Amino acid sequence: MTITDTHTHLYSSEFDQDRDEMIQRALDAGVSRFFIPAIDSSYTRAMYELEKNYPDNVFLMMGLHPTYVKENYLEELMHVENELAKREFYAIGEIGIDLFWDKTTLEEQKNAFRKQIQLAKKYKLPIVIHCRDAFDEVYEVLEEEKSADLFGIFHCFTGTYEQSLQAISYNMKLGIGGVVTFKNGKIDQFLNQIDLSHIVLETDSPYLAPIPYRGKRNESSYLLNIIDKLAAIYNLPAKDIATITTENSKRIFGI
Ligand SMILES: [Zn+2]
Repeated sequence: MTITDTHTHLYSSEFDQDRDEMIQRALDAGVSRFFIPAIDSSYTRAMYELEKNYPDNVFLMMGLHPTYVKENYLEELMHVENELAKREFYAIGEIGIDLFWDKTTLEEQKNAFRKQIQLAKKYKLPIVIHCRDAFDEVYEVLEEEKSADLFGIFHCFTGTYEQSLQAISYNMKLGIGGVVTFKNGKIDQFLNQIDLSHIVLETDSPYLAPIPYRGKRNESSYLLNIIDKLAAIYNLPAKDIATITTENSKRIFGI
C-alpha cells in the first residue's frame, strides 16, 4: 500500500527533536510520498536539506504562502522565480488568500496569487491553493485565470458541496485531511457525493491532527486515521482509498 501525503510541512521546527523517527513512523505505516509546500524564502534551505536526506520520498513545491505576503512580497516572489528557474519542483504552493489572519493585505495577496498562477502556467506545474475565510476572493482570481492548463489541489478543503463543485470545475482536486474526522468539520456530510477521482489525501502536519489526536502535533503517519474515515464515507476498503488517492496525486504532480 502506497499512501501519499500531498501536503506536509516536514521541515517545520516542530519536528526538530524527532524528525527522522517521525518520518520512519510514516514510512512504516505505508506513507512514502511526501509533497512539501513552501512558505517563504526563510524555509528554502530547510526544504533542500530534507530533500537531500530523503531523495526518494520528498517532493518539493515552491511558492509564497498568503499569510507571508508582507511589504517585501515582490522580493519574495523574485526568490520564487529564481528558484523555479534553477531547478525542478512539483508544484507552485502553497499560494492563495487568507483573510483570517490579515484582511489589510488583500490586494497584495491577490496580486501574489495571480502572479504565481501565471508562473505555474509558464512551468506547466500544478498549483496548491491555501484558502481561509476567502472562498469568494480565491474564486474571483481563479475565474480570471482559469484555463485548460491551470490545474492543482485545493488544499485543506473545508467548503460547502457547491464550493467543492466549483473547485472541481477549475480542475482542482480536493485535499482532504484531519478536518474530515472532526465532529463539526461538515465536509464528511457531502463527500460521498464527490467522486473519489477528485480527492487527494493530506495531513498539513504539524497542523490539523485528525481525531483522536485533535489539538496535538500532527504527523504523516496519522493519514491512516483519515483513510479509515474515508473508507467509512465511501464504503470501500482502506487500501482502495490509498491506491486511488495515490493515483490521483501522480496525475497531478506528474510523479
Ligand atoms: Zn500548509
